[in-house]
Amino acid sequence: MEITSAEFVISNSRADMCPDTKLPEYAFIGRSNVGKSSLINMLTQKPKLAMTSSTPGKTLLINHFLVNKAWYLVDLPGYGYAQRGKKIMDKIQKLIEYYVLERQQMTCLFVLIDSRLEPQRIDLEFIEWLGENGVPFALIFTKADKQTTTKTRQSVERFMNKLQEQWEELPPYFISSSEKKTGRQEILDYIEEVNKSIASTGGMTN
Ligand code: GDP
Repeated sequence: MEITSAEFVISNSRADMCPDTKLPEYAFIGRSNVGKSSLINMLTQKPKLAMTSSTPGKTLLINHFLVNKAWYLVDLPGYGYAQRGKKIMDKIQKLIEYYVLERQQMTCLFVLIDSRLEPQRIDLEFIEWLGENGVPFALIFTKADKQTTTKTRQSVERFMNKLQEQWEELPPYFISSSEKKTGRQEILDYIEEVNKSIASTGGMTN
């Protein structure tokens, strides 16, 4: 898929106030600093698109971007900010939970994982929660340019092995670098494929 247009639409502090449309939504989530804004900018080829959402306060919001007038790219707040107060943590958690579990348009949640790190408990727990709730998701291992291809491959393997301890079927995964534009075509093609399969089954049911 090629991206012909990508525009910021709205930020919301409540999942039930998100745009009232039937277009499929592909949401992006991960720990703070995992490279989410960079990835969104790289995918849309708009260097400042996700900066709209990284202005103070907006990182606590759900941000909708309309792509090709056909689907929404949704930037969710990061999880696991240890330095934030409990009240804000609870608020973010509720916002994420409500969006991920209740939003009918949510077609695939891309969970971003830093490819340089050992499997992190918070990521594994989040993924486990997705599994328990039957949420469709895929993984994106970020910042691959920061180490050798071999190191990235080993790291991905370690993470997938960890998942395999609990899962029979592993989720799709992608390796990305926002610096080198690695993974861009694969991720966009995946979205296109899912969009096509939705269209061929008669669209979304909600
Ligand atoms: P966010 O908090 O998840 O939105 O993370 P950002 O996109 O703001 O990225 C956090 C830091 O990592 C920034 O300094 C980025 O420049 C850097 N970064 C993000 N993605 C990449 C990448 O693919 N390669 C490299 N080398 N640095 C990256």
